[in-house]
Amino acid sequence: MAGGVMENLQILVVEDHVFQRKMIVHMLHSLGIRNVRQAGNGLQALDTMGDRQLGQLDIVLCDLDMPEMDGMEFLRHLSERQPNLSVVIMSSMEGPLITSVSKMAKSYGVKILGAIEKPAALEQIAEFIKLHRQRSGELSVSVRSWHNFTLDEVLIGLKKDQFLPYLQPKVDMQSGRIVGAEALARWHHPEYGVISPMAFIPLLESNGSMDEFTFMMLEKTAKMSRQLHDNGQLISLSVNLSLSSLSDTKLADKITKIVRDASVDPHHIILEVTESAAMTNVAQALENLARLRMRGFGLSIDDYGTGFSSMQQLTRVPFTELKIDKSFVSDCTNNHALRVIVESSIELARKLNVKSIAEGVENQGEWNLLREMNCDVVQGYFISKPMSDKAFYDFCVTYNQRRKSDPNAVTGVHLAAA
Ligand code: C2E
Ligand code: CA
Ligand code: CA
Repeated sequence: MAGGVMENLQILVVEDHVFQRKMIVHMLHSLGIRNVRQAGNGLQALDTMGDRQLGQLDIVLCDLDMPEMDGMEFLRHLSERQPNLSVVIMSSMEGPLITSVSKMAKSYGVKILGAIEKPAALEQIAEFIKLHRQRSGELSVSVRSWHNFTLDEVLIGLKKDQFLPYLQPKVDMQSGRIVGAEALARWHHPEYGVISPMAFIPLLESNGSMDEFTFMMLEKTAKMSRQLHDNGQLISLSVNLSLSSLSDTKLADKITKIVRDASVDPHHIILEVTESAAMTNVAQALENLARLRMRGFGLSIDDYGTGFSSMQQLTRVPFTELKIDKSFVSDCTNNHALRVIVESSIELARKLNVKSIAEGVENQGEWNLLREMNCDVVQGYFISKPMSDKAFYDFCVTYNQRRKSDPNAVTGVHLAAA
């Protein structure tokens, strides 16, 4: 790490315990960081932040339990003053409490890098500083490509055919094989580059234009499926279905036609659905889903466990897989409650005779844990990020070659870096 970069970092340590505060300042100095400010509580911290001569802060290391203004209140004020600041929480409180405060801070818009159990160790602090530098690098990239689009811009992009599916592999844990991929929408914007679905799907939803979009995604995905099969990759592809589309009782026929027109057997297409508690046309939705299942499509409960996808669905829809939301999967190695939720979801799927899928698997620890829990299929950055169909095909070829030469390489460790 270049010394110059470290020297430029501005760090604030908020800690009422004088000795512990001095220790941390000392550690930061030893990491080559010169610009370290100190505060004994939230009030003092806000004071030093208000001093413009001292310049903009990059990272705040913050205790939770302090006199006068505690860490929670300080984080709230912080979010109003400088929302993009990175924060590391330091506390000797129990894990669930720290997790809860982290969630609170995130909801206020503060970037939480993580938490350190006191007394802080040098390696932990160094690790978080590294994370901050990685994240701020990523942020500047995504900020550049981010833009608040209007519905008109999205519709023009749709007319100009600028949207396409990216594929993210799904790996069977038992066999280690790539068994499928999820098609995730991307906008190839001529000016802003590759745009994520969050920037356009809500606009299309609110305008009632999701049907057209879904059919376009399905048609392109079906063509990709045909191509992959023709080139020896006999896998299934998953497409996300918007809830609003399910009210049209002609939906199942339209979907079937699109898939058959591309010469693809519905058995190779999985439709992912979430169910909103507020879903109004339940009967129509069930009619569509039953018909789709009858024709051979796989049906996946997406985002299982979140407010929109609940156990009630399990009783009324003929699902073939249960997809555990990434909000439970990420961090399940560190958080006991998350681990219990993930494990019981897998168990539930097994008892209901449907496949369990964990999305958002990001590291070896999560992979190992899910394997121990007998999860069927996993998807996540640990294996690969979503990519273009061509990149996906190459990925499959390389992945399969590596599996042949080293069956243990399937965990994706080596592949994730490729
Ligand atoms: P989703 O269906 O829950 O899809 C999973 C999201 O998690 C994707 O975000 C994927 O890129 C991301 N992801 C995958 N692995 C990891 C991981 O290891 N870590 C993390 N942090 N994230 C991971 P993406 O592509 O931004 O899509 C966001 C959402 O937009 C999707 O969530 C889905 O609800 C919606 N969406 C995307 N494409 C379509 C589409 O064609 N139609 C509809 N109706 N919705 C779509
Ligand atoms: Ca999905
Ligand atoms: Ca999800």
